[in-house]
Amino acid sequence: MFDTHTHCMHSHDSRQDPEELVKYAIEKGLEYIAVTDHYDGELTLLPEFSYIPQIDLDNHFKVISFLKEKYRDKIEVGVGIECGFMREADGIYLENLKKYDTDIIINSVHTIEYEDCYEPSYFAKRTKRQAYYAYLKAVRDSLDVPYHYDSVGHIGYVIRKSTYDDISLDYKDYSDILDDILKTIISKGKALELNSHSEGTGLDFMASPEITKRYKELGGELLTFGSDAHRTNRLCANYDKVCETVKALGFKYLFKYLNHKPVAVKI
Ligand SMILES: [Zn+2]
Ligand SMILES: [Zn+2]
Repeated sequence: MFDTHTHCMHSHDSRQDPEELVKYAIEKGLEYIAVTDHYDGELTLLPEFSYIPQIDLDNHFKVISFLKEKYRDKIEVGVGIECGFMREADGIYLENLKKYDTDIIINSVHTIEYEDCYEPSYFAKRTKRQAYYAYLKAVRDSLDVPYHYDSVGHIGYVIRKSTYDDISLDYKDYSDILDDILKTIISKGKALELNSHSEGTGLDFMASPEITKRYKELGGELLTFGSDAHRTNRLCANYDKVCETVKALGFKYLFKYLNHKPVAVKI
């Protein structure tokens, strides 16, 4: 088992001690764990989010690199980060990420049209189609950033806190833009993330099995698994289920990232 997407207390929404996380991963028998804390550079540009503390990048990369060395005989630790995409924040990530040695960068969309889609107000003022389409448009835009990234985080994230009666984001309703997204991921050599932090979505993981199936049809091969755990108890959550589902779709491998190179892990 391995996990390419986890958080520790370096993220504003986690209190997990990073060394305990790595030790727990060793105990659980993981061969690899990437610690990919939130880097919400986009929020520094939006005054209404100034209450959210920003990550201390120097400390984050120093601590995770230290753990990578300390436990290298027992587990591979990926030094990582999760960037919150917003076009205006491109320069922030471009400038700051090149200062550090990293293994994996996840590019994710959390902010849509300058709003947080965890807030009910995002949905209240939009129809479902407007809300989901704006999200997918942001995901499409996020693929063209000038900074390096390896995987595309949790496609479908907008439904996590969706307030509509029917929250589903079905491939057939958004096939044009989803095909554009998937083809672009493939042509840029990026990975589609299978994120098992999907409580409340009715899905085992995001991108959904349906979208992952389409990715395969279009020729996609690079897949990462990420639990998005913010505490040890969710590490590798649903790993077996995700493997079983993607195996049935015809995939043979998942990928972990070391120094931004995908390394195949047979499933
Ligand atoms: Zn995220
Ligand atoms: Zn995350």
